[in-house]
This record gives sequence, C-alpha cells and structure tokens, in this order.
Amino acid sequence: MTDRTAIYPGTFDPITNGHLDIIDRARAQFDAVVVAVSQHPSKNPLFPLEERIAVAKETTAGLGGVLVESFDGLLVDFVRARGGGVLIKGLRAVTDFDYELQMAQMNYRLAGVETMFLVANPEYSFLSSSLVKEVARFGGDVTGMVPAEVLSRLRERFHGEG
Ligand code: ADP
Repeated sequence: MTDRTAIYPGTFDPITNGHLDIIDRARAQFDAVVVAVSQHPSKNPLFPLEERIAVAKETTAGLGGVLVESFDGLLVDFVRARGGGVLIKGLRAVTDFDYELQMAQMNYRLAGVETMFLVANPEYSFLSSSLVKEVARFGGDVTGMVPAEVLSRLRERFHGEG
C-alpha cells in the first residue's frame, strides 16, 4: 500500500457510534484518517455543517491521527486537492452494497481513487444517522448508539433540554 491516508466521507448528521467504530478501526490500518464532512445542503441536514464538524472534532479529539475537514462538490476533487488518499466506507448490509459499489467504481473511473470497505461491527450494523434522529425525535432512548456530545444535542434539539 502506498497511500497511507484514509478519507472517510459522510454527512455525519449526526456522527454515531457506528461511524466512530469505523474511524477507530481505519486508524489501525492507516497513518491518518480524515473525516470528510459533506456539506450536503440538498439533504436538509438537522445539524448545520459547523455543528457536524464541531461534534466530529469533539468526539475524535482523543484519537491520534484523526483530522476533521469538510468538502463540497465532488469527493474525488477533495481527495485530489489533499494530494491523494484511499476512501473508506462502512458496509452495514447488502442494502449498502449496490450503491457503494457504484460510487466506488465511479470514483475510480473519475480519478483513479481507490475505495476500501470495512464491514460494520454487528453491534452497530442496524444504526444509521437517520434512524437515530427519528427515534430521538419521538423520545426514544438512543444511549449507547451515539456519543454523549450527540445525545445532549439531540435532546436539546427535539425536547429543549440541555
Ligand atoms: P451518507 O451521507 O453517505 O448517508 P453517513 O454519514 O450516513 O453518510 O455515513 C457515512 C459512511 O458511514 C457510509 O460509508 C456508511 O455506510 C457508513 N456508516 C454509517 N453508519 C454506519 C454504521 N452503523 N456502521 C458502519 N458504517 C456505517
């Protein structure tokens, strides 16, 4: 392997323990992991970009070798502008696979950027940011699924508590 930087892209709206598990495991394989937070205004995120970045920074602060950056536009342009890197994706189930395969092939075709997949930890493979938001919105307990920094923000957002 020649490229020792992993780039882990996503919306991270919000970051979950499933994401953090992938980041931690990617660290074991690469010299540096860049969490690339997509601006994604079209997805109408619950948390604004600045907050998603801030939370990703807070929750990875204790992990050496992790950087949090943001990108807009084509992911491969971001990878190129950084001077290269390997994309990391988490696969939770076959339902992730079709889309991720297509994206990986497109990114390779566009810019020769490689994608590597880490299979989700079964403890978190049912977790998605959108499901966490839906459960939290209706008062369900998502303790253990998201870091404490996210838990308090979800409570504040949906139930006006700090
Ligand atoms: P997207 O904008 O692509 O929906 P997300 O922020 O939801 O991005 O997720 C980013 C990446 O993290 C994707 O590769 C996704 O497959 C992976 N991922 C999301 N949730 C989990 C999880 N619970 N376990 C492992 N990987 C996950």
